[in-house]
Amino acid sequence: MPHHPTPDLVVTGGTVVAHDGRRRQDVAVRDGRIVAVGEGLAWDGAAATVDASGLLVLPGLVDVHVHLREPGMTEKEDFASGTAAAAAGGVTTVVDMPNTYPPVSTAERFQEKLDLVAPKAHVDFGLYGMLGQDNAEEMTAMAGLGAMGFKLFMGQTTGDNRCPDDAAIFRGLEAAAEAGLVVGVHAENDHLLRMFIDRLRAEGRTDPRAHLESRPAFVEVEALTRIITLATEAGTKLHIHHLSTAAGLSRVRDLRAQGHRVSVEALVAHLTFDDSAYDVHGNLVKLNPPIRPAADVAALWDGIGRGDVDVIATDHAPHTAAEQAEPDVWKAYGGFIGLETMLPLLLTETAEGRMTVEDIVRLCSYAPARRWSMAGKGAVAPGFDADLVLVDPSAGTVVNGASMHSKHNITPYEGRELKGSVVATYLRGVPVYEKGEVIGNPAGRQVRPGRTRGER
Ligand SMILES: [Zn+2]
Repeated sequence: MPHHPTPDLVVTGGTVVAHDGRRRQDVAVRDGRIVAVGEGLAWDGAAATVDASGLLVLPGLVDVHVHLREPGMTEKEDFASGTAAAAAGGVTTVVDMPNTYPPVSTAERFQEKLDLVAPKAHVDFGLYGMLGQDNAEEMTAMAGLGAMGFKLFMGQTTGDNRCPDDAAIFRGLEAAAEAGLVVGVHAENDHLLRMFIDRLRAEGRTDPRAHLESRPAFVEVEALTRIITLATEAGTKLHIHHLSTAAGLSRVRDLRAQGHRVSVEALVAHLTFDDSAYDVHGNLVKLNPPIRPAADVAALWDGIGRGDVDVIATDHAPHTAAEQAEPDVWKAYGGFIGLETMLPLLLTETAEGRMTVEDIVRLCSYAPARRWSMAGKGAVAPGFDADLVLVDPSAGTVVNGASMHSKHNITPYEGRELKGSVVATYLRGVPVYEKGEVIGNPAGRQVRPGRTRGER
């Protein structure tokens, strides 16, 4: 038995939650890594001891879908503010999307972004490159710089990102397969949704619900069927971002039964709002794909229960206050902030019996860390990074934008009463959030894909 050197930090008396169970355990940390997890062990001379009695100890959440808007849209958010929000929300790893200005479609831009954002990160981060029109060689070069994967926009979203044609998509899927990296896809058929938007505009519609009508379920079903077909042929690890419809999930089930392998993500927003939200929040809840009717929301929850949904993410997508107040649905941007509300919202769902805290750990930490091959992330276990979130599952809180950390804290959850709150967040053993404050200098590091510990 090796002798454990003196730990830097010991978290005692908490309940450590894994993806498949929970136990009352102490956690010892040295040099940023967990060195031991055990019950009632004696730790002599630890530099710091934290009493977590009555609290849950979770592995830091891994959010594989955020838009921190840097470079080029820093009036909306930047890496400092966005990763501060992550720290406050118990999210210790974010993977940032490439639809910035300019979009991250070349190795040169990838390196520029990395140099720009790394000194500002309060949590660890990975960066996606773009799967664009004819940039397969650049994708290979971005993989060499540590890209976590590639984003493919099949449907329009923030930024000027035209959907590549099917041949370009296939060449990009091949390049990603060669690099062994995940391609994450926004699966909506661009031509169809533009046609529906034109029709609704011609009818004079500008109301929030017109956005939902412009993107019927088959727009998603067609796109995901096509991309899953292509990705299987190319041998690519494919991830469907923000799957939003019952029909889409049903199609994924059918395709999986035929042997297609794909991971599926649901957004917190799609799980916590149905289309009645348009009447209350207007264009603030405009999202691509849209907030759907209650039957689709129920199908997503059913998919979580049955294991059809692999990952929950935020799609944290900040805009300025003025932009969020835009009354014309076609001029309004899609998306809103979510990093600070994800964990409290999901803890509230556990209090209401829709899921367990183990489900949260699986869907928001363990599974994404494995899918994107993040070594050392996703579990509270020896050898893993000491990314820890201390949670009080019984604390009642009210969502209050004024206490949040994004640049524009406008949230449709404002005033919502929640059960469960983040008490403290540790990044590799160092506290980054405590007592309502983000603390310390930015110490986040780039996460590159590598073999995850314990992965065969
Ligand atoms: Zn997004």
